[in-house]
Amino acid sequence: MSFSHQFATTPTGHLMLGGCDALTLARKYGTPLIVYDVDQLEAAVSQFTQTLAASGLTSAVCYASKAFSCIAIYQLMARLGCHVDVVSGGELYTALQAHFPPERICFHGNNKTKAELEFAITKHVGTIVIDNFHEINLLKQVLTNQNATVNVMLRVTPGVQAHTHRYITTGQTDSKFGFDLASGQATTALQWILACPRMNFIGVHAHIGSQIFVPDGFITEINRLCTLIAQWARNFAVIPAVLDIGGGFGIQYTNDEHPVPVKTILQTITTTVKQSFKQAHLPLPALWVEPGRAIVGPAGTTLYTVGSEKHLPGRLPYVAVDGGMGDNIRPALYDAHYTALNAACPTAPAINRIRLVGKYCESGDVLVDDLRIAPLSAGDIVAIPVTGAYGYSMASNYNRNCRPAVVFAQRGHSQLVIRRESYSQLVINDLPYEGSN
Ligand code: PLP
Repeated sequence: MSFSHQFATTPTGHLMLGGCDALTLARKYGTPLIVYDVDQLEAAVSQFTQTLAASGLTSAVCYASKAFSCIAIYQLMARLGCHVDVVSGGELYTALQAHFPPERICFHGNNKTKAELEFAITKHVGTIVIDNFHEINLLKQVLTNQNATVNVMLRVTPGVQAHTHRYITTGQTDSKFGFDLASGQATTALQWILACPRMNFIGVHAHIGSQIFVPDGFITEINRLCTLIAQWARNFAVIPAVLDIGGGFGIQYTNDEHPVPVKTILQTITTTVKQSFKQAHLPLPALWVEPGRAIVGPAGTTLYTVGSEKHLPGRLPYVAVDGGMGDNIRPALYDAHYTALNAACPTAPAINRIRLVGKYCESGDVLVDDLRIAPLSAGDIVAIPVTGAYGYSMASNYNRNCRPAVVFAQRGHSQLVIRRESYSQLVINDLPYEGSN
């Protein structure tokens, strides 16, 4: 796999990230290191906000923080005027620690615990996205106990599942998320919610998948949700103010992938919303979108140091780096494809073919299979671009390796936003076994 993405270089020809020399960042903070270009993060957000604003619809960009969650990213999203989605008490806690405005937080999840709902209600979270009947009962109890009310959206499975650049229509039974539309579960859920005066029903939510490369799946989704809302308007005289179509906007990881630009997809989405709702004689809803990957993915680059090599006759050599599946599980988990660059000479001819592997004790710990790259030797810095989404957020301590550090870089200035984990942190929750006597 080769790589011809646009990337900046320093006057000495090194890879430049956020205006900083990648080799200097690696020396200063150590490796593995995840570097976010803050200008790129801001540009990604403004692409969403500006395109939606240009449509004339009331809108909100809810950053899906499962893609990358830490205090600094919530601070940035707060400053950029975004809403955020959280899917656990831990993400909610982190957002609150960043002083993210609670009214702009949307709490998702298919099995929120009572404790998580109590936490969310105590902290005045803006919206709970209700996923199932069990949750309606739990939330009712929590609201009664706290004598509180909350805005809720109802998550429905519209029978559209998007896979990469194509979409397939599926039965609703194969998703663990949300209320099934076709069997009428969604309408039953609405009746339950309307019967609970502590729940203020504000919207309908659906999420059709990830790495969506073409708008077709979104068009089907919007049309189905609009039909549902029209039914509800007729039968219950209820018209939700918000249409939340979820996230899933695809990004380019390698040269073989060609997603339709986000701006084009958003324009198709907004046009479809306006047309569908007009045809159904419904007032225009506020449109909420929940991008995760498209905001943080391209802005992140992981830097590793090259260590050992193994050569076998007639086989591609293995070149190992000081990270791997503990900081980026996606290749092992999803067979995700990446490419990589020699950070000292990213524009040099990619004359070598190698397998770039990690340091974890798993044969599946392969970061890039069949990589074309400029020659590498021990001590060199390798950069894997487009690693800003679902890398650190899925990181583990497998083999008791420490999770990497994360840096924000902007116009030549860099700042640590997540410290590298230390060995002492690895054992902080371990307790000595005292035996039975
Ligand atoms: N919204 C919901 C409900 C999701 O489940 C997800 C991802 O799983 C997202 C948004 C973000 O998806 P992506 O990062 O692909 O944009």
